[in-house]
Amino acid sequence: MATLSTPTFSTSRHQIAGLSVAELAKQYGTPLYVYDLRLIEQRIADLSAFDVIRYAQKACGNIAILDRMRKHNVVVDAVSCGEIQRALAAGYSPQGHEIVYTADIFDAAALDLIVQHKLHVNCGSPDMISQLGERLPGADVTLRINPGFGHGHSQKTNTGGQQSKHGIWHTQIDDCLRRADQHGVTVTGLHMHIGSGTDLEHLSEVCEAMERVAMEVGRTVTTISAGGGLPVPYSESETYVDLDKYFQLWDATRNRVSESFGHPVTLEIEPGRYLSAESGFLIAEVRSVKKVGDNLFVLLDAGFNDLARPVMYGAQHPISVCAADGAAVDDRETVEAVIGGPLCESGDIFTQREGGFVHSRELPMCRVGDYVILENAGAYGFVMASNYNSKTRAAEVLIEQGQAKLIRKRETFDDLIRNEIIPE
Ligand SMILES: *Cc1c(COP(=O)(O)O)cnc(C)c1O
Repeated sequence: MATLSTPTFSTSRHQIAGLSVAELAKQYGTPLYVYDLRLIEQRIADLSAFDVIRYAQKACGNIAILDRMRKHNVVVDAVSCGEIQRALAAGYSPQGHEIVYTADIFDAAALDLIVQHKLHVNCGSPDMISQLGERLPGADVTLRINPGFGHGHSQKTNTGGQQSKHGIWHTQIDDCLRRADQHGVTVTGLHMHIGSGTDLEHLSEVCEAMERVAMEVGRTVTTISAGGGLPVPYSESETYVDLDKYFQLWDATRNRVSESFGHPVTLEIEPGRYLSAESGFLIAEVRSVKKVGDNLFVLLDAGFNDLARPVMYGAQHPISVCAADGAAVDDRETVEAVIGGPLCESGDIFTQREGGFVHSRELPMCRVGDYVILENAGAYGFVMASNYNSKTRAAEVLIEQGQAKLIRKRETFDDLIRNEIIPE
């Protein structure tokens, strides 16, 4: 595996995957999500050393994306009944662990569907073991373990430690094995999704915790999963993780577990963001450029109803500009601009920082009619879109072998009110 260096982010972009941004915008309208399949394929190839790549579809779940993942032998993780149904609709088989349900609870619909298809479950709470065992005695399960510590700054995305609702607390393995025994359930997999970012020292602690838990559970374990959380850089101050070292740490853990047990152990990785983030671009049109006191606001037809990460997490997406006529804008003077959306809410700002403070970005001067592209928007982008302010959700387009293909129609007003009823 090659370790990637941080890309340079240009603030001028007139093409995506060789196609004109302005042409795409004219053909499909704005706001528009565009995915470059080649970038997904490259990221899949980066991880080829792992035995199994399991895509966390919650990052970007369009069934066309899932179909292409499937054709590259990438299996899927599903965190809800709807995600199981998406995977089935995209052609995944319910057999052979192609779909694994990972959650901390079952709702009634998810449990029914799992029982119907005998899907493999990654249990994030002791209750799930009992509830599954009652319906599917003799099932094999994976346990998602919270090793007692987490990582990361964002309280909203921390996935370990005692503040996290995720996983089975590391001191409760005994109780889980007892529950499993009661129903003839076998623990064949162990899973930790902590997300060490680029911190390999932290990762080695996660690996050690995995090894300890594997020894405690014993020889029934045939698969360990490293979870997701592989980072992608959203700015030039961020980096990728050293993938070679990342793999080596997990591979060594797997080998030690395998040696103690005397049988092969499969090593899975479960990325969402890493596979899809960089492939996605949200194209919006500039609708107003206005001075407000000392600030220059550039207002787009896309808002946090289309891309929520900046508002939810203070996430900084790379931003680029394309002229209305499709030309590059490298020759324009640069200005400090605050990029915002159309929503009736002052927090609808793409250039904010965590805590909601309005910031500006140095960008080429924008004019009404230009296009602004929010980049690295392929993970936790469209999937978190909403109909707030009665906005219809954007269309999605996949670029494959130089051709743009519509993979989701823009919503219409009829879609918006489809399930609403005015009683007599
Ligand atoms: C969200 C999630 C992932 C993917 O996380 P990324 O940070 O997008 O890689 C993987 N596994 C589980 C269980 C998750 O909930």
